[in-house]
Amino acid sequence: MLVFSAFVPHSPLLIPEVGKENLGKLDSTIKAYQHLEAELYSAKPDILLIISSHANSRGGAFFTINQQPKLKVGFKDFGDLLTKLEFANEIGFGYKIKESCEDHFPIILIADENLDYGSGIPLFYLTQHLPNIKIVSIGYADLPLEKHLRFGEIVRKQINLSEKRIAVVASGDLSHKLHQDSPAGFSPRAQEFDEQLMSLLNKGDVEGLVNIDHNLVAEAGECGLRSLMILLGIIKEINYQPEKLSYEAPFGIGYLVENFKL
Ligand SMILES: [Zn+2]
Repeated sequence: MLVFSAFVPHSPLLIPEVGKENLGKLDSTIKAYQHLEAELYSAKPDILLIISSHANSRGGAFFTINQQPKLKVGFKDFGDLLTKLEFANEIGFGYKIKESCEDHFPIILIADENLDYGSGIPLFYLTQHLPNIKIVSIGYADLPLEKHLRFGEIVRKQINLSEKRIAVVASGDLSHKLHQDSPAGFSPRAQEFDEQLMSLLNKGDVEGLVNIDHNLVAEAGECGLRSLMILLGIIKEINYQPEKLSYEAPFGIGYLVENFKL
């Protein structure tokens, strides 16, 4: 049973030990994350499916499911040696997803003990009062958006068959090219991409999102669209209410927190 769904950003600067004095610039995002944390807690989930842009470190045209029994979260790549979390992997459910998808898509099982930061940052914020929640870590593929939507539809069938209470969180950032001093450079169409995505999302226009202009997507330099597509594939037949909790881009990268109330 699906009990929660949301889309969240993954700036490493959201982690207090990494962001330090920059945390204040992410105030809206942090407040939105705290709001989601309370909602997730009251949904009493058994399992959290985390879909991350950076979970598939191998790249390539296949989806990934992580089957390492213990999953660790840390941010030492960003100079933080203190923050550490550990979760049990819900490997049985992950395996079911693999089995149900493999006739339709290229999908592989991986065994990475250390979760990527795109998974780690949402888990840091959202599991503060859910230390025993079980995780399923999904990585997306270098395949068209439409395939990601279809992938989500198949995952939904598995969620519906399960007696467990399941939450789904898609992690990704919007355009990385919003400011002149953005780390990835500036694109004059970056703002257009972020605005179009949020407008389609808030109208519930999934068709419009799947058919979003490819050139615009390439110009934007995003990492969240395919995570979002899987999430939308999971919820699109359900009566959900999109609720934009925050959007900001203090470092030239678009950070959106969106709750999809079920
Ligand atoms: Zn990213």
